[in-house]
Amino acid sequence: MAVSAVPSATGTHEGLKFTPGPILLLGPPGVGKGTQAQELVTAWSIPQISTGDLLRSNVSRGTTLGKQAKEVMDRGELVSDELVNQMVADRLTEPDTARGYILDGFPRTLNQADWLDGYLVAIPGSFPVVAVSIEVSYNQLLRRITGRRICSLCKTSYNIYLQPPKVNEICDLDGTPLTRRSDDTEEVFEERMRAYSSLTAPVVEHYRVLGRFAEVNGEQPVDAVTAEVKGAVLRLRS
Ligand code: AMP
Repeated sequence: MAVSAVPSATGTHEGLKFTPGPILLLGPPGVGKGTQAQELVTAWSIPQISTGDLLRSNVSRGTTLGKQAKEVMDRGELVSDELVNQMVADRLTEPDTARGYILDGFPRTLNQADWLDGYLVAIPGSFPVVAVSIEVSYNQLLRRITGRRICSLCKTSYNIYLQPPKVNEICDLDGTPLTRRSDDTEEVFEERMRAYSSLTAPVVEHYRVLGRFAEVNGEQPVDAVTAEVKGAVLRLRS
Protein backbone atom coordinates (compact mmCIF):
# COMPACT_ATOMS: atom_id res chain seq x y z
CA MET A 1 0.00 0.00 0.00
CA ALA A 2 1.28 3.46 -0.84
CA VAL A 3 2.33 5.92 1.84
CA SER A 4 0.29 9.09 1.46
CA ALA A 5 0.45 12.32 3.41
CA VAL A 6 -2.74 11.73 5.35
CA PRO A 7 -2.80 12.43 9.09
CA SER A 8 -0.61 9.86 10.79
CA ALA A 9 -2.18 6.86 12.45
CA THR A 10 -2.12 7.46 16.17
CA GLY A 11 -2.40 4.90 18.86
CA THR A 12 -1.48 4.27 22.44
CA HIS A 13 1.94 3.06 21.35
CA GLU A 14 4.40 5.97 21.15
CA GLY A 15 5.83 4.73 17.84
CA LEU A 16 2.44 4.93 16.14
CA LYS A 17 2.30 8.72 16.62
CA PHE A 18 5.09 9.22 14.11
CA THR A 19 4.60 8.48 10.40
CA PRO A 20 8.06 7.51 9.20
CA GLY A 21 7.23 7.05 5.47
CA PRO A 22 9.73 5.20 3.27
CA ILE A 23 13.20 4.88 4.82
CA LEU A 24 16.21 3.61 2.87
CA LEU A 25 19.07 2.01 4.76
CA LEU A 26 22.10 2.12 2.49
CA GLY A 27 25.58 0.68 2.90
CA PRO A 28 27.76 -2.27 1.89
CA PRO A 29 27.13 -5.92 2.85
CA GLY A 30 27.74 -6.56 6.55
CA VAL A 31 27.43 -2.92 7.59
CA GLY A 32 24.53 -3.67 9.96
CA LYS A 33 21.52 -2.60 7.88
CA GLY A 34 19.48 -5.60 9.04
CA THR A 35 20.28 -5.00 12.71
CA GLN A 36 19.41 -1.31 12.48
CA ALA A 37 16.26 -2.05 10.49
CA GLN A 38 15.07 -4.33 13.30
CA GLU A 39 15.56 -1.48 15.82
CA LEU A 40 13.40 0.81 13.67
CA VAL A 41 10.74 -1.90 13.29
CA THR A 42 10.49 -2.07 17.08
CA ALA A 43 10.53 1.69 17.56
CA TRP A 44 8.03 2.69 14.90
CA SER A 45 6.00 -0.44 14.11
CA ILE A 46 6.69 -0.41 10.39
CA PRO A 47 7.96 -3.42 8.39
CA GLN A 48 11.51 -4.10 7.29
CA ILE A 49 11.62 -5.02 3.61
CA SER A 50 14.93 -6.76 2.96
CA THR A 51 15.32 -7.78 -0.67
CA GLY A 52 18.05 -10.26 0.40
CA ASP A 53 15.63 -11.92 2.86
CA LEU A 54 12.80 -11.97 0.29
CA LEU A 55 15.13 -13.57 -2.27
CA ARG A 56 16.46 -16.15 0.24
CA SER A 57 12.89 -17.03 1.17
CA ASN A 58 12.11 -17.60 -2.53
CA VAL A 59 15.23 -19.76 -2.86
CA SER A 60 14.34 -21.92 0.14
CA ARG A 61 10.73 -22.31 -1.05
CA GLY A 62 12.00 -23.27 -4.54
CA THR A 63 9.83 -20.70 -6.35
CA THR A 64 10.52 -19.78 -10.00
CA LEU A 65 12.02 -16.49 -8.80
CA GLY A 66 14.18 -18.36 -6.27
CA LYS A 67 15.46 -20.72 -8.96
CA GLN A 68 16.36 -17.76 -11.18
CA ALA A 69 18.10 -15.93 -8.33
CA LYS A 70 20.04 -18.69 -6.55
CA GLU A 71 23.11 -19.04 -8.77
CA VAL A 72 23.49 -15.29 -9.14
CA MET A 73 23.32 -14.85 -5.35
CA ASP A 74 25.81 -17.66 -4.76
CA ARG A 75 28.29 -15.85 -7.01
CA GLY A 76 27.78 -12.59 -5.08
CA GLU A 77 26.37 -10.81 -8.12
CA LEU A 78 23.14 -8.83 -8.31
CA VAL A 79 19.82 -10.32 -9.34
CA SER A 80 18.24 -8.50 -12.32
CA ASP A 81 16.56 -5.15 -11.66
CA GLU A 82 13.38 -6.39 -13.31
CA LEU A 83 12.95 -9.32 -10.90
CA VAL A 84 13.83 -7.31 -7.80
CA ASN A 85 11.69 -4.28 -8.70
CA GLN A 86 8.67 -6.52 -9.29
CA MET A 87 9.28 -8.31 -5.98
CA VAL A 88 9.41 -4.95 -4.15
CA ALA A 89 6.34 -3.64 -6.01
CA ASP A 90 4.40 -6.73 -4.86
CA ARG A 91 5.57 -6.29 -1.26
CA LEU A 92 4.59 -2.61 -1.22
CA THR A 93 0.97 -3.50 -1.92
CA GLU A 94 0.72 -5.12 1.54
CA PRO A 95 -1.35 -3.05 4.01
CA ASP A 96 1.38 -3.08 6.69
CA THR A 97 3.37 -0.57 4.60
CA ALA A 98 0.71 2.17 4.95
CA ARG A 99 2.60 4.28 7.55
CA GLY A 100 6.01 3.57 6.08
CA TYR A 101 8.63 0.86 5.70
CA ILE A 102 12.35 0.32 5.84
CA LEU A 103 14.00 -0.79 2.62
CA ASP A 104 17.12 -2.79 3.46
CA GLY A 105 19.34 -3.75 0.52
CA PHE A 106 17.19 -1.88 -2.03
CA PRO A 107 17.76 0.09 -4.24
CA ARG A 108 21.13 -1.38 -5.16
CA THR A 109 21.49 0.03 -8.69
CA LEU A 110 20.68 3.40 -10.25
CA ASN A 111 18.02 1.64 -12.29
CA GLN A 112 16.32 0.41 -9.11
CA ALA A 113 16.59 3.90 -7.59
CA ASP A 114 14.99 5.46 -10.68
CA TRP A 115 12.24 2.85 -10.55
CA LEU A 116 11.56 3.55 -6.87
CA ASP A 117 11.63 7.33 -7.33
CA GLY A 118 9.16 7.02 -10.22
CA TYR A 119 6.97 4.59 -8.30
CA LEU A 120 6.65 7.01 -5.37
CA VAL A 121 6.15 10.12 -7.52
CA ALA A 122 3.24 8.36 -9.25
CA ILE A 123 1.43 8.10 -5.91
CA PRO A 124 -0.35 11.40 -5.21
CA GLY A 125 0.74 12.94 -1.90
CA SER A 126 3.29 10.23 -1.17
CA PHE A 127 6.13 10.91 1.25
CA PRO A 128 9.57 11.25 -0.35
CA VAL A 129 12.19 8.77 0.83
CA VAL A 130 14.72 9.57 3.52
CA ALA A 131 18.05 7.80 3.07
CA VAL A 132 20.58 6.87 5.74
CA SER A 133 23.94 5.49 4.67
CA ILE A 134 25.89 3.44 7.25
CA GLU A 135 29.67 3.55 6.83
CA VAL A 136 32.18 0.90 8.00
CA SER A 137 35.80 0.18 6.91
CA TYR A 138 36.56 -2.71 4.51
CA ASN A 139 38.49 -4.80 7.07
CA GLN A 140 35.72 -4.53 9.64
CA LEU A 141 33.16 -5.59 7.01
CA LEU A 142 35.28 -8.61 6.11
CA ARG A 143 35.35 -9.78 9.76
CA ARG A 144 31.63 -9.16 10.16
CA ILE A 145 30.75 -11.13 7.02
CA THR A 146 33.14 -14.07 7.28
CA GLY A 147 32.48 -14.40 11.04
CA ARG A 148 28.68 -14.23 10.75
CA ARG A 149 26.78 -17.31 11.94
CA ILE A 150 23.01 -17.74 12.35
CA CYS A 151 20.98 -20.21 14.40
CA SER A 152 18.76 -22.01 11.90
CA LEU A 153 16.10 -22.50 14.59
CA CYS A 154 15.73 -19.17 16.46
CA LYS A 155 17.59 -16.98 13.88
CA THR A 156 19.85 -15.42 16.55
CA SER A 157 22.93 -13.92 14.92
CA TYR A 158 26.49 -14.43 16.20
CA ASN A 159 29.95 -13.52 15.02
CA ILE A 160 32.75 -15.95 15.76
CA TYR A 161 35.27 -13.07 16.06
CA LEU A 162 33.20 -10.25 17.52
CA GLN A 163 30.31 -11.89 19.39
CA PRO A 164 31.03 -15.64 19.67
CA PRO A 165 28.63 -18.20 21.15
CA LYS A 166 29.68 -19.80 24.50
CA VAL A 167 30.26 -23.16 22.77
CA ASN A 168 31.95 -23.10 19.37
CA GLU A 169 29.38 -23.02 16.51
CA ILE A 170 26.41 -23.81 18.83
CA CYS A 171 23.49 -21.48 19.62
CA ASP A 172 23.54 -20.29 23.28
CA LEU A 173 19.75 -20.21 23.42
CA ASP A 174 18.68 -23.60 22.08
CA GLY A 175 21.84 -25.66 21.41
CA THR A 176 21.24 -25.82 17.64
CA PRO A 177 24.38 -25.91 15.41
CA LEU A 178 24.97 -22.51 13.81
CA THR A 179 24.82 -22.08 10.03
CA ARG A 180 26.64 -19.78 7.67
CA ARG A 181 25.04 -18.04 4.68
CA SER A 182 26.40 -19.60 1.48
CA ASP A 183 27.49 -16.13 0.25
CA ASP A 184 29.38 -15.21 3.46
CA THR A 185 32.74 -16.63 2.31
CA GLU A 186 35.73 -14.34 1.68
CA GLU A 187 35.67 -14.97 -2.10
CA VAL A 188 31.98 -14.16 -2.46
CA PHE A 189 32.36 -11.18 -0.09
CA GLU A 190 34.98 -9.73 -2.46
CA GLU A 191 32.59 -10.12 -5.38
CA ARG A 192 29.75 -8.54 -3.39
CA MET A 193 32.03 -5.60 -2.55
CA ARG A 194 32.94 -5.22 -6.24
CA ALA A 195 29.22 -5.15 -7.08
CA TYR A 196 28.72 -2.61 -4.28
CA SER A 197 31.49 -0.27 -5.47
CA SER A 198 30.51 -0.29 -9.12
CA LEU A 199 26.70 -0.48 -8.91
CA THR A 200 25.52 0.58 -5.45
CA ALA A 201 27.94 3.35 -4.45
CA PRO A 202 26.40 5.56 -7.22
CA VAL A 203 22.99 5.01 -5.57
CA VAL A 204 24.35 6.51 -2.34
CA GLU A 205 25.55 9.53 -4.33
CA HIS A 206 22.15 9.78 -6.04
CA TYR A 207 20.37 10.15 -2.68
CA ARG A 208 23.08 12.41 -1.25
CA VAL A 209 22.46 14.84 -4.13
CA LEU A 210 18.66 14.57 -3.81
CA GLY A 211 18.86 15.62 -0.14
CA ARG A 212 16.99 14.07 2.81
CA PHE A 213 20.21 12.08 3.22
CA ALA A 214 22.41 11.36 6.25
CA GLU A 215 25.60 9.41 6.86
CA VAL A 216 26.18 7.46 10.08
CA ASN A 217 29.41 5.92 11.44
CA GLY A 218 28.63 2.20 11.74
CA GLU A 219 31.79 1.38 13.74
CA GLN A 220 30.24 2.52 17.02
CA PRO A 221 28.39 0.20 19.44
CA VAL A 222 25.02 -0.91 18.04
CA ASP A 223 23.01 1.33 20.43
CA ALA A 224 24.96 4.41 19.39
CA VAL A 225 24.44 3.63 15.71
CA THR A 226 20.70 3.15 16.35
CA ALA A 227 20.47 6.50 18.15
CA GLU A 228 22.14 8.24 15.19
CA VAL A 229 20.00 6.47 12.60
CA LYS A 230 16.76 7.31 14.44
CA GLY A 231 17.90 10.90 15.04
CA ALA A 232 18.71 11.28 11.34
CA VAL A 233 15.29 9.98 10.23
CA LEU A 234 13.45 12.25 12.68
CA ARG A 235 15.49 15.27 11.56
CA LEU A 236 15.08 14.51 7.83
CA ARG A 237 11.32 14.05 8.27
CA SER A 238 10.75 17.22 10.26
P1 AMP B 1 21.84 -9.17 1.15
O1 AMP B 1 21.18 -10.11 2.11
O2 AMP B 1 21.19 -7.82 1.10
O3 AMP B 1 23.34 -9.09 1.35
O4 AMP B 1 21.62 -9.79 -0.31
C1 AMP B 1 22.11 -11.07 -0.66
C2 AMP B 1 22.14 -11.21 -2.17
O5 AMP B 1 20.81 -11.07 -2.70
C3 AMP B 1 22.95 -10.16 -2.92
O6 AMP B 1 24.35 -10.46 -2.94
C4 AMP B 1 22.31 -10.20 -4.28
O7 AMP B 1 22.72 -11.34 -5.02
C5 AMP B 1 20.84 -10.38 -3.95
N1 AMP B 1 20.15 -9.08 -3.76
C6 AMP B 1 19.64 -8.57 -2.60
N2 AMP B 1 19.09 -7.38 -2.81
C7 AMP B 1 19.24 -7.11 -4.13
C8 AMP B 1 18.89 -6.01 -4.97
N3 AMP B 1 18.27 -4.92 -4.48
N4 AMP B 1 19.21 -6.09 -6.29
C9 AMP B 1 19.82 -7.17 -6.80
N5 AMP B 1 20.20 -8.23 -6.06
C10 AMP B 1 19.91 -8.21 -4.74
